[in-house]
Amino acid sequence: MASLRFDGRVVIVTGAGGGLGRTYALEYAKRGAKVVVNDLGGDAHGTAASTSMADKVVAEIKKAGGEAVANYDSVEFGDKIVQTAINNYGRVDVVVNNAGILRDVSFGNMTDLDWDLIATVHLKGAYSVTKAAWPYFRKQKYGRVISTASNSGVYGSFGQANYSTAKAGLIGFAKTLALEGQKYNIFSNALIPTAGSRLTETILPSEIVAALKPEYVMPLVIFLTHESCTENGQIYEAGAEWFGTVEFYRSAGKIIENATPEKVRDNWAQITDMKNARNFKPGEIMEYMMTIMSEKESKKENT
Ligand code: NAD
Repeated sequence: MASLRFDGRVVIVTGAGGGLGRTYALEYAKRGAKVVVNDLGGDAHGTAASTSMADKVVAEIKKAGGEAVANYDSVEFGDKIVQTAINNYGRVDVVVNNAGILRDVSFGNMTDLDWDLIATVHLKGAYSVTKAAWPYFRKQKYGRVISTASNSGVYGSFGQANYSTAKAGLIGFAKTLALEGQKYNIFSNALIPTAGSRLTETILPSEIVAALKPEYVMPLVIFLTHESCTENGQIYEAGAEWFGTVEFYRSAGKIIENATPEKVRDNWAQITDMKNARNFKPGEIMEYMMTIMSEKESKKENT
């Protein structure tokens, strides 16, 4: 099978000055893409800024014979980042929404700034960059988008009410863009990575940080954004060279006629029984509700 090349493609990787984003940027360039290396160059908590992080990665790419340009704007100004792609390379094909910060603090001690900065970088950032790329994607009938979520957004995480909310939001974002983009050959998926980086080095022991190489996540991102990949609207997970997918399942549940809080309590075991749980595709939920309503109607008619 042919290797996955990106010749002629223009890829924007946000937050590509370090960690996961850097490994994606280096690999895209190695595979022939022209890369916009975006990084604000601040600290892990969303303060300060510098040009050095993006510049370093661009220099690495160029030294290896690849093509890349730096962009230092915060992801909340997505139009400037996309403009860098257009000005330098005339198009944009892939957006990897990867930039991120942490402001971990228990909910009781969380400030508005902790909440707002996280929402701005993760949610507004992904929105803003993808929104600016969208008209180009639509016009050329081609686009690939990755939005970086987190296990924190799926399962919750102590001290991360702000971050887990934003990361869960990005799952909805990725899934809805998948539905809207499909007819234009724009595919959008969410990624849940686990890797040692400056975001995880304060939480994990140093030997684990060293072992969880960002390079072990990278192959999934490259595959998902290749023109040959038609996966759309899914959540994928990668870490330590393990790759998988995450889906939501809903219990079969129970119809309770003339429901009262007491009847809900008394049927709790059946309501929450996951034995016959199933996964739903977009649109199926409403169909399912219709089936339930007609089941109720026919029951009424038969009594
Ligand atoms: P990292 O800190 O090494 O990389 C994030 C990069 O984003 C940094 O280089 C930073 O300068 C840049 N950045 C921050 N704010 C920015 C802004 N406003 N505009 C542009 N760039 C900005 O961390 P990482 O672990 O490589 O994280 C990458 C992504 O993966 C993040 O979205 C993070 O939340 C997510 N994630 C990481 C893990 C993990 O295990 N490392 C787990 C789940 C999710």
